[in-house]
Amino acid sequence: MVSNLIVGNWKMNNDFVAAIHLTQQIGILARQADVAGVSLVVTPPTCDLRSVSSVIEADRLAIKLGAQHAYWEDGGAFTGETSIPMVKRLGCTFIIVGHSERREHFGMTDDAVAKTTASALRHDLTPIICVGESEEIRDNEGHVEFVSSQILAAVGGLTASQRRDVVVAYEPIWAIGTGKVASSEQVAEMMAVIRSAWPEDGGDITVLYGGSVKPENATELASTPGVDGFLVGGASLSGEQFVEIAAAAAKCYR
Ligand code: PEP
Repeated sequence: MVSNLIVGNWKMNNDFVAAIHLTQQIGILARQADVAGVSLVVTPPTCDLRSVSSVIEADRLAIKLGAQHAYWEDGGAFTGETSIPMVKRLGCTFIIVGHSERREHFGMTDDAVAKTTASALRHDLTPIICVGESEEIRDNEGHVEFVSSQILAAVGGLTASQRRDVVVAYEPIWAIGTGKVASSEQVAEMMAVIRSAWPEDGGDITVLYGGSVKPENATELASTPGVDGFLVGGASLSGEQFVEIAAAAAKCYR
């Protein structure tokens, strides 16, 4: 089981040179800050994974590596895709699954999310399954049902013991990259919804919040009941901000 993660989703930013610099910066800042008790994970673009894993190893940085996406088949005629065993060989121990940008721009379905999750677990990677409603769904008060059904679709076909190795990230689409942060009440409600949608007692699963997390709001969000860490987009592109967020969260979890 995993807990207290601060995950940086770099999206399609940073070529391998910029990725090396940012990784080193995060590693150095994290040594100076008090981030004891949280694990820092970076998820660079796939083409940067080899460079980032080399720098983590060479400089002995306390950073874990994740992929933003990979295909669920292990190999074969799937032009343009990268498999989970391939990203694992590059040092990944985490993988983001079903980010709303994959769902929206690349047609990733609930079924694909479930298959990718199962493949990640088969290869001992921790899947970080992203769920979250659009503004329209929330306005129509369908968010509880929508997110519950995303959870069941993603993990319903797994065994109970596999489900213990899964991380969930609640990321309301309307809060991603918009500067609109969900309120503590909204986040607390959805943390509880995700845990009660879990096929077993979901009390001890790891659930992250994502959506415009910044150093300024990290303490309040990390102190919100049920939040075990963050999935950070924009602010993870700044080493200073990313480590500040991690330090703020670490303080709340101690
Ligand atoms: C994300 O991309 O997962 C995300 C939460 O982005 P941002 O922090 O920029 O809202």
